[in-house]
Amino acid sequence: MDAAKSLSAITVDSDYDPNSMPVAKAREYIRAFLTPITTVERLHIRAALGRVLAEDVRSTMNVPANDNSAMDGYAVRFGDLAANADATLKIVGSSFAGRPFEGGVTGGQAVRIMTGGVIPTGCDTVIMQERVKVADGNVIVPGGQQQGQNVRRAGDDIRQGATVFKRGQIVRPAELGMIASLGIGEVSVYRKLRVAFFSTGDELVPIGGTLGLGQLYDSNRYTIYGMLTRLGVDAIDMGAIRDDPAAIETAFLEAARAADVVITSGGVSVGEADFVKQLLAKLGDVLFWKIAMKPGRPLAYGKIGLAHFFGLPGNPVSAMVTFYQFVREALLVLMGVPEPAPLPTLKAICTSAIKKAPGRTEFQRGILSQGTDGAWSVRVTGDQGSGILSSMSQANCFIVLPDAQANTPAGATVDVQILEGLL
Ligand code: AMP
Ligand code: MG
Repeated sequence: MDAAKSLSAITVDSDYDPNSMPVAKAREYIRAFLTPITTVERLHIRAALGRVLAEDVRSTMNVPANDNSAMDGYAVRFGDLAANADATLKIVGSSFAGRPFEGGVTGGQAVRIMTGGVIPTGCDTVIMQERVKVADGNVIVPGGQQQGQNVRRAGDDIRQGATVFKRGQIVRPAELGMIASLGIGEVSVYRKLRVAFFSTGDELVPIGGTLGLGQLYDSNRYTIYGMLTRLGVDAIDMGAIRDDPAAIETAFLEAARAADVVITSGGVSVGEADFVKQLLAKLGDVLFWKIAMKPGRPLAYGKIGLAHFFGLPGNPVSAMVTFYQFVREALLVLMGVPEPAPLPTLKAICTSAIKKAPGRTEFQRGILSQGTDGAWSVRVTGDQGSGILSSMSQANCFIVLPDAQANTPAGATVDVQILEGLL
């Protein structure tokens, strides 16, 4: 697929069926039209936590910078030691972390050394203090030592000249530490992705308001806010918009002007889609899909002006599932991560029997736990209705049942996507 093509061009693909779109195919189509951020800013490394590197980070030095000791003990010259007998060496000084031994060490001498202490010139081996005897200013080293033992070599962690991180790497605590260990205080990262989102529906009442008959509080705006904030984007809350063509048009135009990405919930299911469809046909280049999945069938995807657009279903569970299955990875690509890691997946024994028809992917909400034997097992949370948001709160994983799968008996092995840390 050619990213320069307009989205509507994919509708002539021979296997394109908007009314039965396989999960993998939808991901592929979305992927082909993403244009990542290019604007770069330089930040102090602390401020770069959670951001995406916009340049490779190269090492101008060895880490550690010098050969140093991995143990508390004595630095010696291996050539002074005997293979099968004690060697007696004169202790001529000490090398502590940050306080090196300044002189050189010659035959028959040793230096007291602590963990992190620089290996004195002439020495090549460290003997653990537990292995030696000390008497009259001498250290007595038994035979059977290995040359180079207990020495951490310069560059063991990071070699001078190495590419330590590639552009597109997310900066996590370990990366912050590595960058600091190179003495680098500032890095170039991509600017934050701006994501505007709003809810649609005449039945929605903002929190703080009073519910009339048939009304409900707008919860999607909070789950979406939470999922976006966890990803590290600038989340721009544009409120809840009535099912009114003029109001929705204004909201789409404002959102597309304000942000790189527009996310809506509700209004894309059958019956509602019609006027949104006409509106989006006028404002942009948007495709409406029924994904072969449960929950979360309707999904709209496209561009409004320069902004990427995701129209999520209104059902609270469907909105979250479609976000995690399609939007999360797409946003990471837009943030500058070329190959985002998929949600961590493992295999587990499913202790619940699950009814399922083949032909669609199901994302059942599951509770994964480890038995006393260390094996992972998973059970469903209970009612799997797409309006049961408590199923997402109880769950720590999705049980993923692929298209071809039919009913799953209790005891079967299933794939599980871990949500811990994402939710
Ligand atoms: P829709 O996709 O607009 O047809 O909505 C499907 C279902 O999701 C309806 O029962 C809505 O009431 C519910 N819903 C839509 N938007 C929200 C929202 N923002 N918060 C909670 N529930 C919603
Ligand atoms: Mg609606």
